[in-house]
Amino acid sequence: MKQWRIDDVGASTKYYNQWGKKRFSWRDITYFYFPWANYGFLKRHWPFRGWAKYEELTAEEWQKYLKIFEEHNIVPIVAVTATWVDEKSNLIPFPDKFPQEAAILKRATDEGRITIASHGLTHCVVGSHLPHFRYPNRKAHREFWPDLPNELHKEHIKESQKILENYFDRKIEIFVPSGNIWSEKTYEALKGTNIKKVIAARYMLETNRPMEGIEFIKDDDFVRLHDRDLKLRGEKWLIKKIEEIKKYD
Ligand SMILES: [Zn+2]
Repeated sequence: MKQWRIDDVGASTKYYNQWGKKRFSWRDITYFYFPWANYGFLKRHWPFRGWAKYEELTAEEWQKYLKIFEEHNIVPIVAVTATWVDEKSNLIPFPDKFPQEAAILKRATDEGRITIASHGLTHCVVGSHLPHFRYPNRKAHREFWPDLPNELHKEHIKESQKILENYFDRKIEIFVPSGNIWSEKTYEALKGTNIKKVIAARYMLETNRPMEGIEFIKDDDFVRLHDRDLKLRGEKWLIKKIEEIKKYD
């Protein structure tokens, strides 16, 4: 049975990670190239929109999706970003920003229907997260770059653990770095927390040095979703996806 994971819950990257698709290709042949895809509002709109903008899942939507997962005996990992970073770089804790959504997820956690993981504190480099008029800003929507200071890694890990553990009233044992970017500094920051597993597509950027006390799980085998998939694609899409995956499982 494949492990399912849903990322980006609570992250404002769904608002501010804006970049446009310049190249429209099919089987390696580019049929259409649009150099201005990142200009102004274009990057937020079809067909140029590469990622943002989309809204957070509501409590009602979660109820529908949780029911579908339950009916198919799937206990997904839900990777929550502990704060929403707003346009003025304020960090708003997930339970304050989305109290109803948080309450649904808390109940589902208590009932053993989902596992909560940490998807960082901010998902982004705070202060560089707003969309640029002309350029994509994807790089700023990874949180744990190796060139950021030690203190930042420590502070973000500590603070995100605090918010999530207090609200969900349990130990948070899984860490999912945003955009699969993490560093030795992140590992140092994870030591001494309750994190037991790092789940990502790749290991720390700078080293292959083994970790002590924390396990790395490469997530090639996982079914990796973003809340974006649920928000924009809907229930029918999810059911179809579950059935497709079951066939090969
Ligand atoms: Zn993410």
